[in-house]
Amino acid sequence: MTESNDESNFDFSRARKVLLSWFDANERRFPWRDEPTPYRVWISEIMLQQTTTQTVLGYFERFLARFPNPAALAAASEEEVLKFWEGLGYYRRAKMARDAAREIVARFDGEFPSRFEDVLSLPGIGRYAAGAILSFGFDERFAILEANTTRLHARLLGLRSETTSAESQRILWRFAESWLPRESSRRTAGVYRRINGALTDLGRLICAPKDPSCERCPLAKFCESERLSLQSIVPVLKKKADPIRRTDVALWIAREDLPGAKNVFDLPGAERSPTDVLLIRRAAGSLWAGLWDFPRFEVGNASVSRDFSSDAFLSDRLQFFLEEEAGAPASDYRVGASLATITHAVTKYRVTLHLCQTTSARTNRAPKKERTLFEFKELPTNPNANRGKSTRPCARIASETRWVPIDKLREFPLSSPGRRIAELIAKLASER
Ligand code: SF4
Repeated sequence: MTESNDESNFDFSRARKVLLSWFDANERRFPWRDEPTPYRVWISEIMLQQTTTQTVLGYFERFLARFPNPAALAAASEEEVLKFWEGLGYYRRAKMARDAAREIVARFDGEFPSRFEDVLSLPGIGRYAAGAILSFGFDERFAILEANTTRLHARLLGLRSETTSAESQRILWRFAESWLPRESSRRTAGVYRRINGALTDLGRLICAPKDPSCERCPLAKFCESERLSLQSIVPVLKKKADPIRRTDVALWIAREDLPGAKNVFDLPGAERSPTDVLLIRRAAGSLWAGLWDFPRFEVGNASVSRDFSSDAFLSDRLQFFLEEEAGAPASDYRVGASLATITHAVTKYRVTLHLCQTTSARTNRAPKKERTLFEFKELPTNPNANRGKSTRPCARIASETRWVPIDKLREFPLSSPGRRIAELIAKLASER
């Protein structure tokens, strides 16, 4: 090939033979490859979005054992599906999978559809996932383009424009399709599944993001980046924005510290204890909606303090939650000093999360009535925006609130930071 981005001289026929013979010796084995039914391929593809293969391996079989087909997934409660998803992150995927399973049952009699348009019409399935399901699950002639194959194809072509641009995407998808031989009555069974699998594995194992192993690459003689030494500049990726730093507090509120909270309900079947912890189910529209968590509030990006007792804005939001949502008696609730700290990343944020307890001083004042409750629309980005205003709306953070014994926390589907907070609470409580 002499001209960058030009596939017209690319010898797909020879390259394919070399690629498949490399794949015969180097194929990665996964449970969804060993038994590639469309349903199993679909679940694996959803799990693999934003998550490493190593992590998915620990979840896949467990999920499939409990939800072996679309009907089982469709019949499950959202809470149960989330529990099986806990720790994988990006929980919207789990909810959409359940929604899609319900559509498969309602529209396709529980059988995974095999037409591209039907697959694409299901919630949570885009062009890549539809192609992956049809090629891996049905061995149909559909291309795929994910991180590994994008990098591999961009390097083979010597593509020097940003891979996410519309023009680059057009070039890359066409190149990915050109690897797949046209249908013929004499085609080898499994050929589309194998070619897409081989391209993915070669991208992952040999054409690594940094320091690709060109000396071991079976496609080196076909590769424009190898010919022109472009490996360090191709693929051209969009620059990632720096994460925004923010500080949150997660509250450890024990039953004994909040008597008379009339909207917080007991866990059915559990014995009451003064150490039971207040858990919320995160409100619709919020981050981690549907999962359980500890009451949690943003402090402000600039805060480096570990003492939040004088933060009036935080106290105001806490007070609103406790009085209006949890139904606690009117009081001057404050957030106590930080007991422990964890850090975690979520969407565009790098979060420092403090575990704190609450304090209260009984007052005779009436609960504040002037504020209006609204449903969460999105994660607030500027907690300082309303500072200084005497009245303001507050977002509802909970769709349910419960008293949960510390040893039952593990039974609830929690956000990943929520799980770490639960472990910290169990440890701190055992030391008291
Ligand atoms: S020769 Fe190097 S850059 Fe080219 S496809 Fe192979 S590993 Fe990637």
